[in-house]
Amino acid sequence: MSMDVVIAGAGMGGLSASIAMGLKGQQTTLLERREVFGEVGAGIQLGPNSTRLLQSWGLSKALETYAAWPSHIEVFRLDQQNALARLSLGESFKARYGAPYATIHRADLQAILYERMQAIGQTHLCMGASLRDLKSTEQSVQIQVQMQDQNSGSSKTRFSFERESSTPQNLQAKALIGADGVSSDVRRLHWPLRHIHATPHLAYRTTIAQKLLPLKLRQSCVQVHCGPQMHWVHYPIRSGEWLNIVALIEAPIDDAHLQDTLQTPLQQTWLEHIPLELSRQHFRLALRGAHSDLQDLFRAVGEWSPWRLFDANPLQGAHQMAKGRVALLGDAAHPMLPFLAQGAGMSIEDAALLAQHWSHVEQDETLRLERYAQSRWLRNAQVQKRARLNASVFHARGMLSGLRNLGLSLFGERLLDMPWLYGYR
Ligand SMILES: Cc1cc2nc3c(=O)[nH]c(=O)nc-3n(C[C@H](O)[C@H](O)[C@H](O)COP(=O)(O)OP(=O)(O)OC[C@H]3O[C@@H](n4cnc5c(N)ncnc54)[C@H](O)[C@@H]3O)c2cc1C
Repeated sequence: MSMDVVIAGAGMGGLSASIAMGLKGQQTTLLERREVFGEVGAGIQLGPNSTRLLQSWGLSKALETYAAWPSHIEVFRLDQQNALARLSLGESFKARYGAPYATIHRADLQAILYERMQAIGQTHLCMGASLRDLKSTEQSVQIQVQMQDQNSGSSKTRFSFERESSTPQNLQAKALIGADGVSSDVRRLHWPLRHIHATPHLAYRTTIAQKLLPLKLRQSCVQVHCGPQMHWVHYPIRSGEWLNIVALIEAPIDDAHLQDTLQTPLQQTWLEHIPLELSRQHFRLALRGAHSDLQDLFRAVGEWSPWRLFDANPLQGAHQMAKGRVALLGDAAHPMLPFLAQGAGMSIEDAALLAQHWSHVEQDETLRLERYAQSRWLRNAQVQKRARLNASVFHARGMLSGLRNLGLSLFGERLLDMPWLYGYR
């Protein structure tokens, strides 16, 4: 079957690209390996660079319904109750950047993107369809798709689909967009030399209903608590009714279990079987000396989901994002540590620019993809670099942490406000 654009991966980036292209009248075929949508129970921060685009795609009302609107970002030393630095996210912030700072549950974001995509009606979504192979020639790109076993037994949700038995196993397209995440098959097949590596960073995530917490632990802002080799972030989601918490911990590298996961091929970032005692040990070490409010919050929550974090060197040129009739988008193009909270933001920006360049129908298709990559690689590289820098700043020890604290207390607001990031247009 022949089609214009095939997108592999219906995560934040793939759904966004389908919306942005659909709004420009461009039909897409979206392949998703999973049989049903389902997101980990965790939150996501969206700077005004992302919310501006989501609003322009007609999602203002949906965001109003599902998101929370934190009043500030505050940074603390792990052992202190007074903030080192504070950035107001109120009206003046919104006016400065023309859009708000939002926090939202990932499942809610996925659901509103999906619903918008369906309402636009330009996307043929194939669930349970895994891209297995590709071949790009001058005239087209051939894509081999493997359908999941019908009887894999996944439970259905509000956003599940009956599999389309008509989905062909071999597709031919004018362009293929790899939006298939950090362990991208499109990147592996088309850019075999690009290297992604596991890091010693673990992200432990959880959410809790704020009403279950004592008043002093409930939050209406984004709080970042920095300690040696760790930091802890929490913020409201679901109209402020829930609290999202993530503890980012550099796990001792000599743990046998973690050594194994570091050496496993890049398959999963989700560590389902991390032993409970090992998790407890990570938290014991990470929260040594932490302020009593954090200790109380830690004791109040139930289960944590641990994730191994991956990273890649910052992009070095447009050629790493587009080659011939194949382009990458989101984590597939630029995996990054989540220390700037902008991975999904970059996939949303990528999607908008891809749609913009693809709409130049007077140009050859490969040129359109090349122009897209040229417009995005430097921005993405800058964000990847800043995320790495934040890792060393947030997790600093000894004298470096003293310098960080001094810098934040003297220039806090200026350091937290990032016009180059939030003001991107
Ligand atoms: C702890 C943590 C906190 C974070 N916090 C934030 C934050 O606050 N703000 C922010 O902006 N970002 C944040 N991020 C980053 C963000 O989650 C990612 O950058 C974002 O999800 C990337 O979206 P994507 O669409 O590129 O990839 P994904 O969301 O990973 O989607 C890829 C999709 O492709 C599918 N797929 C994979 N292979 C195939 C195949 N061969 N064929 C078909 N489908 C395939 C997958 O099933 C998946 O649905 C955080 C990340 C972590 C780990």
